[in-house]
Amino acid sequence: HSDKIQTINPATEEPGKSYDPTSIEEALAAAAKAHAAFREWRRTSFNERAAVVRKAGAILRQRKDEFAALMTDEMGKTLDEGRAEIEKCAFHCDWFADYAAGYLADAPADIGGGEAFITFNPIGVVLAVMPWNFPFWQVFRFVAPALMAGNGALLKHASNVPGCALAIEDVLHQAGVPKELFRTLLLPSREVEALIKDDNVAAVTLTGSVGAGRSVATAAGSVLKKCVLELGGADAYLILEDADVEAAARVAATARMVNGGQSCIAGKRFIVIRSILEPFEKAMTDAMRGFEMGDPRKDGTTLGPMQSVEARDEIHRQVSESVRKGARLLLGGKVPDRPGAWYPPTVLTNVLPGQPAHDEEVFGPVAAIIAADDEADAIRIANASEFGLGSGVLTSDLDRGRRIAAHELEAGMSFVNESVRSDPRTPFGGVKHSGYGRECSAYGIREFVNIKTVHVK
Ligand code: NDP
Repeated sequence: HSDKIQTINPATEEPGKSYDPTSIEEALAAAAKAHAAFREWRRTSFNERAAVVRKAGAILRQRKDEFAALMTDEMGKTLDEGRAEIEKCAFHCDWFADYAAGYLADAPADIGGGEAFITFNPIGVVLAVMPWNFPFWQVFRFVAPALMAGNGALLKHASNVPGCALAIEDVLHQAGVPKELFRTLLLPSREVEALIKDDNVAAVTLTGSVGAGRSVATAAGSVLKKCVLELGGADAYLILEDADVEAAARVAATARMVNGGQSCIAGKRFIVIRSILEPFEKAMTDAMRGFEMGDPRKDGTTLGPMQSVEARDEIHRQVSESVRKGARLLLGGKVPDRPGAWYPPTVLTNVLPGQPAHDEEVFGPVAAIIAADDEADAIRIANASEFGLGSGVLTSDLDRGRRIAAHELEAGMSFVNESVRSDPRTPFGGVKHSGYGRECSAYGIREFVNIKTVHVK
């Protein structure tokens, strides 16, 4: 059937399983049932929900190897990174099972006499539109707190990871999430707008590109529904003249190469004070060379294929065009002559405005080195971006690092002397075109609740 969703192994370009898509009629029926299930679920206690969410974490740990292999087959993630991703999801489930009740406990307010408090009611069924790059983590990051808050959820995952989408549904149902409260819908993205507008959907969360974010926010805005958006990033790392150059290059390469460079919070622009430019170029090239393309199913592989040949071709276009416009290639930059979505670790220097490596998000293993005159110039360049997700500062002066991270960089997250990562205990999200709203921590779980004021006289 031509309408089937066909998976393709990006390491080999061989077709995998295919799946029947969900129709919009089926999706709307699922939304109605999810809403009905939500009306029951919202009456359950935190303890009951915590038992279910904790069980989901335990199942993830039990089936870790199976799920890591599924991600490798569908989007090319290395098995090592896949196992780490499943562990992180399990930790996140445990964290919200333990702490959601505290995050959402009634909070008394002192209004100078009388009784007043704030309570947090669930809001209903939240639609989650999710990307392929961390097929499990992106979903669990949202769904563990959503379920703990008492909400229902519908998942519309990226169309290249249908097996992961169905596996997640299976985990949650096996853990005891009521069947109709959480559903995976293999819905084409053109149908998302109709689902957002359906009365049984209360809100929407999207992780993905700026374009998808704009479509979803427009649809949500037209019916005045809440949305949280985690979009792209062009994370800048400032390498200051007092940094330990070798250590900085190791942090920078680690930041760039997470998930083969396909992460919204991967380091993408490395802004280096000119006085240490040459030693940094050398150290960065050496550190990037340490990532070698290899079979993603083999233990110890540090760089698998990109998610698809189309995505790889787009990355190569960005690199080639940057070189044509004056960037200098220090490493990589050549498409290997073999089937599959392969791209080598690549380092560009002399990256300047007008080049794609400077102006666009590069979603692959390509580090862009940009020279700056001094600290102020480096901050200016870092902030001259449409994005504002993560950022980093590499310096041996912690006070200086702390000041720049806390007060100068326009980003949702700023890390000193380490690479940016998400964590259930701290808020995650961005500013500008990186989106709005937060996930994780108390801030994340409170995005999809009615923060209600109660006065009693
Ligand atoms: P997309 O934004 O296209 O896909 C993310 C999700 O949104 C998928 O579920 C997709 O469904 C859905 N979607 C796409 N367009 C629409 C739409 N108009 N309305 C509703 N839903 C939509 O990401 P890509 O995979 O195409 O990646 C392209 C770029 O996105 C990357 O280069 C990167 O910049 C950014 N990105 C950011 C991520 C992050 O973690 N913040 C993750 C992945 C990508 P479907 O697959 O069916 O089209």
